[in-house]
Amino acid sequence: MSGKKTTKLLAGALTFVIGATSTLPAYAQSRSVPIIRDAEIEALITDYTNPILNAAKLKKRNVQTILVNSSSFNAFVDGRRIFINSGAIVQSETPNELIGVIAHEAGHLAGGHQDRLREQLSRARTMAVIGALIGAGAGVAGAAAGNSSAAAAGGGIAMGSGEAAMRSLLSYQRTEEMTADRLAINYLNATGQSAKGMLTTFSRFANALSLNGTQIDQYRISHPLPRERISNLENLAKASPHYNKTDSAALQLRHDMARAKIAAYSGMGSVQRIFRNNPRGLAARYGDAITTYLNGSARNALPKIDALIKEQPKNPYFYEIRGEILMKANDPAGAAKALQQATSLDPKKSSIMRMSYGRALMLTGTKANMPAAIRELKAGIAREPEFPSGYGYLAQAYGQSGDIALADLATADMHYYSGNRQQAKIFALRAQQKLKKGSPDWLRAQDIINTKK
Ligand SMILES: [Zn+2]
Repeated sequence: MSGKKTTKLLAGALTFVIGATSTLPAYAQSRSVPIIRDAEIEALITDYTNPILNAAKLKKRNVQTILVNSSSFNAFVDGRRIFINSGAIVQSETPNELIGVIAHEAGHLAGGHQDRLREQLSRARTMAVIGALIGAGAGVAGAAAGNSSAAAAGGGIAMGSGEAAMRSLLSYQRTEEMTADRLAINYLNATGQSAKGMLTTFSRFANALSLNGTQIDQYRISHPLPRERISNLENLAKASPHYNKTDSAALQLRHDMARAKIAAYSGMGSVQRIFRNNPRGLAARYGDAITTYLNGSARNALPKIDALIKEQPKNPYFYEIRGEILMKANDPAGAAKALQQATSLDPKKSSIMRMSYGRALMLTGTKANMPAAIRELKAGIAREPEFPSGYGYLAQAYGQSGDIALADLATADMHYYSGNRQQAKIFALRAQQKLKKGSPDWLRAQDIINTKK
């Protein structure tokens, strides 16, 4: 059965799964670092990053993009991964502004500038360092500084050492900044995009005229912005034939939809304020529908999302939210129907969405729905093999099918990927008693039993 932890992670947030993720196994030790899993936002960011990574010839390195749930503006790389704060999406008014920052980070990645960070990461726990980066907490920050007494003490001292660690870890040299800027311009030129957005973002940092005040510091600390750098960047940007090119209306809309969703879910600035210039636009109404539902009124949210579906009947994410609303209204069958439409319309075949669909089927409690529930959950897990919640739902689906051995094995996997090795072993042993010795499932249970601490 799904553990309490898993359920809690998903309370009120079916599409916006914040918590443990496959991409960061070390997460199990540091649950205080919130990662966003959302089909719509992931699809958008993939469309931003892929052309840039291609141009930077980084595609083959299998660079992962990870969305961090933090309202501050930050984006950073660690050698294999690009981390983007949700705050950076909300604060970027156009796709081009964010793509410019991604291009700059790809420049650091291609230039190997984060080698110091990578070196540190091999010593410190990755997530402890990431925790320090996003300011997840004093204990985490202290641990990142390699100072266990500070970590234990907590409070101001630990926070201070975490910040110091962050500065030394992340601060790029001036020459590296210039190189990253130059490479970013190359990538933007190669993909036919303007560097105006990058210039806008960096000028904003240089002038420190941020609405969020100190929150912007994380990015500014790590990327020195002397005046000469901005003027240099300006010259390079304006020399591009694409300088005056703007994002397509369709991409701008997708960007705004993502901003509206993040704002609604995270309370990161009100949706009305962000879209004050277009209060009746699709994005503003999308944010309003989500906010209405999150405020507890599924009944009022439903007609709002249905109006949006009428306008864009092929938008998978509207059906996904519809499913989420119906789930909250205690109508898993209706939710499953909406999520089926969402998955069939989803061009990216998001595993997160399929797991949501499988979960809704499982929650119908109808035995006839369990084979489909298991199929969808397994399809999602196949692409996200380390996502603990998926196993929790799968265990429940097996349980409702009366397959106790596989329910126990899925529960073992859930605990295993949550970092709870002791519970994992207990359930693996229990599963083995009912499984055929030597079968693939039995062997999986044996792997869990054999894991060292
Ligand atoms: Zn930089």
